[in-house]
Amino acid sequence: MQLNSKTVTGILITTLVLGAVYYLFQRHRWLLEQMKTTPDNGCAPKFAVKDCDFHLVAPDHLVYKQPSLIQGRTDVVSVTPWLAPVVWEGTFNPLLLDSIYKPKNITIAATVFAVGKYIRFLKKFLETAEQHFFVGFKVHVYVFTDRPDEVPNVNMAAGRQLMVLSVPSSNRWQEISARRMELVQMLIEEKLQNHIDYIFCLDVDSQFHGRWGTESLGGLVAVIHPGYYRDSRSKFPYERRPSSRAYVAPEEGDFYYCGGAFGGLLEEVHQLAKTCHTNFVNDAKEGIEAAWQEESHLNRYMWINKPSKILSPEYLWQDFKPRNPEVHIIRFSGVVKNYAEIRPNV
Ligand code: UDP
Ligand code: MN
Repeated sequence: MQLNSKTVTGILITTLVLGAVYYLFQRHRWLLEQMKTTPDNGCAPKFAVKDCDFHLVAPDHLVYKQPSLIQGRTDVVSVTPWLAPVVWEGTFNPLLLDSIYKPKNITIAATVFAVGKYIRFLKKFLETAEQHFFVGFKVHVYVFTDRPDEVPNVNMAAGRQLMVLSVPSSNRWQEISARRMELVQMLIEEKLQNHIDYIFCLDVDSQFHGRWGTESLGGLVAVIHPGYYRDSRSKFPYERRPSSRAYVAPEEGDFYYCGGAFGGLLEEVHQLAKTCHTNFVNDAKEGIEAAWQEESHLNRYMWINKPSKILSPEYLWQDFKPRNPEVHIIRFSGVVKNYAEIRPNV
């Protein structure tokens, strides 16, 4: 067969184009591989990328109330200026959310510290968690205590388990409180990385009274402190000394978040715990302890690293506080305690 010059040129151009496409395709694949294997900044441990928070698939034919775009809660703000939801009763559909998260087969960790006399709060905390905290989901509760023998026996539903970890006792409550960030960081690095999706770190001197479930899931989740949410930011009890790494200036800060409850995806909480702990230690080296220890550092962190979901004060009320009208349900609340009697120092 005779090939004229036109045909030869055609074949050559086609080969060149195909070659170029193949090269670009291979390079793209190589870049994707590099992104997967390069550590982000050399200090954070590598976590597998999880999709559990991004792709929300609802079961077909699920029947639920039509959502409205013109009616809803008007007495509270349910979205932040950076467009993160603020979770209040009436802003979400629990049936829909549970149906979305159930097939993802997620496991949620909860950490709780019961050091010294605080062990007395553990029983009620665990019992009420069984009734209200992620009911029907896989939950692993990690209890840090210096009194492992006094950990109560609480019946847990299938798929839910309790793990007890020993920690030394301390003569200063500030130290117990502050050490939590370090231990949470270590727990994530050493034990949770491969089988936990979300983690919540909670105060033990509290009880559940209402649902705390899938509506609380998010990347970085902060809880609004019940004591200050109607105040102006200059009144928030942030650390106000510029020499501290927890410093927040009077004209800065979004909300005042509590140290008694926070959470999110494992990698987000790891970053938070690691940063707060490092800043706490470096402050201590310079002889400074932030006003509210790790709560101050957490507030500084959340000012810079905006939480992707915010839980209203329904998610950490205080028993001594009368319920405000915008709080339709109290889900989790701190019990009244005698500080002088219960803490190792005052
Ligand atoms: N904690 C503890 N033993 C102590 C002091 C504190 O186990 O002696 C832990 C416990 O989990 C407690 C948390 O640290 O819930 C925070 O301390 P606390 O509840 O006293 O602070 P508050 O909520 O009163 O600010
Ligand atoms: Mn507390």
